[in-house]
Amino acid sequence: MDEAISNILKKLDPEEQYKPCGHEEDPSKKKRKVEGGGSAKKSGAGSVPTPNAATGTRRKRNLTRKQVHDLLEKYGVCDVDLVCPCLKEGIRKGHIQLSPHDGLDTVVVTDTCLMCENEIIATVHNVLYQGDIGLDYESGVPDSKVRCSNCDNSCGYYVVDMCTGYPKIDTGKSYSHCTFCSAFGCCVGDFRLAHCSTCNRHYFAEGGAVCSNCYPA
Ligand SMILES: [Zn+2]
Ligand SMILES: [Zn+2]
Ligand SMILES: [Zn+2]
Ligand SMILES: [Zn+2]
Ligand SMILES: [Zn+2]
Ligand SMILES: [Zn+2]
Repeated sequence: MDEAISNILKKLDPEEQYKPCGHEEDPSKKKRKVEGGGSAKKSGAGSVPTPNAATGTRRKRNLTRKQVHDLLEKYGVCDVDLVCPCLKEGIRKGHIQLSPHDGLDTVVVTDTCLMCENEIIATVHNVLYQGDIGLDYESGVPDSKVRCSNCDNSCGYYVVDMCTGYPKIDTGKSYSHCTFCSAFGCCVGDFRLAHCSTCNRHYFAEGGAVCSNCYPA
């Protein structure tokens, strides 16, 4: 491994400790994971986190936010603050391990097109600037770099749940990655959900509603 990169990974930063927000334990998330291995998919290939091809080892400790930013800069990303927080959280937790050989071409997920079941491979570079919410799903995600080569005039896709280690492609309709959660945040699956800073849960905030957990009806 490149020495500069291994130095970044070695650095300890005890001040940066994150309390897990616990949303990965949501039963609804678990259900979605199981659904990912459904009959339309090829042997659930989309659910396999990318192993570290270069070293064959898996990192045990989570990285800090600074380490993730340093890593991305080492791989040539200029404005790390604009990089997709879902991707950054996936890297931080070790679900996505940038291989020194492939760099930004490291594969994030191999999944099937939602229209034709053609294989779609998404790299780190493809999802780098996909943001944290898929609101442009109605217009076909025009700026997406994740597209099917088989479908004519195909819609662009988002890659969701990189932060949980179960990445998959999505039209963007269920892409909402909450950045108010721990570290770089976590996917909540619905853009109408807001983060409550009091109870640390998500609630439907449409029409200016208040947290249903803190203020039961
Ligand atoms: Zn397709
Ligand atoms: Zn680029
Ligand atoms: Zn969370
Ligand atoms: Zn949140
Ligand atoms: Zn996410
Ligand atoms: Zn609340």
